[in-house]
Amino acid sequence: MTDNRMTLGEARELIRKCHRIVGFTGAGISTESGIPDFRSPGGIWATNRTIQYAEFIHDRESRIEYWRQKVAIWPEMRKAQPNAGHRAFVDLERRGQLAALITQNIDGLHQRAGNTNVLELHGTTTEVECLTCHARISMDEAVERINSGSPAPECDHCGGFLKPATVMFGQAMPAIAMQSATEACQKCELLLAVGSSLAVYPAASLPELAKRSGAALFIINRTPTPLDSIADLSSATRSARCCRN
Ligand code: ZN
Repeated sequence: MTDNRMTLGEARELIRKCHRIVGFTGAGISTESGIPDFRSPGGIWATNRTIQYAEFIHDRESRIEYWRQKVAIWPEMRKAQPNAGHRAFVDLERRGQLAALITQNIDGLHQRAGNTNVLELHGTTTEVECLTCHARISMDEAVERINSGSPAPECDHCGGFLKPATVMFGQAMPAIAMQSATEACQKCELLLAVGSSLAVYPAASLPELAKRSGAALFIINRTPTPLDSIADLSSATRSARCCRN
């Protein structure tokens, strides 16, 4: 496995030529955009109570607390701008090389950068959805309603509970996005994973699936990941290595 190493030059050449690339991104691609790491010590998720989906459904006080946390972080999310990492995926799409862009992020920055085929595995925090009729409004509108005295806003159409269109703890992954992502990974030639620790399942099983289906796997992340040992190129290993067969 260590005999046939892929050099950075070879990796660049593969990216240049490849026409079925699938991107897979996590929080690391957005940190330079100023999206705070909510899970870090002192981060909002470390100091605030985690609300499970079932609590949100059954308890108004939990809904109020959940929305309070969302409103607190929204100004930072809202002002974040896409960075060079996001723009690199836009370039790939414009050159017709990007089959799909799978993201674990909820910040909407890939779309704001200009990508159109984004599969959001954990939903988006830029929109709010009614849990009953699935009507959507913008997060800006929801925050305005909360600030105007409605701490757990309800749907104008049916009175159902409004919730950010993200996947909460205890809530299932969006089936259509997951299905499309699975198919994209089975058909791609290169899976380019950027800024993900590849530790959160089932999302992290997708790069593994791409590799098993015959694609090359490149991993760019600040820290080692569980998939570095099967990657053709990994930024966390001391030297770029290849296990192409
Ligand atoms: Zn509704």
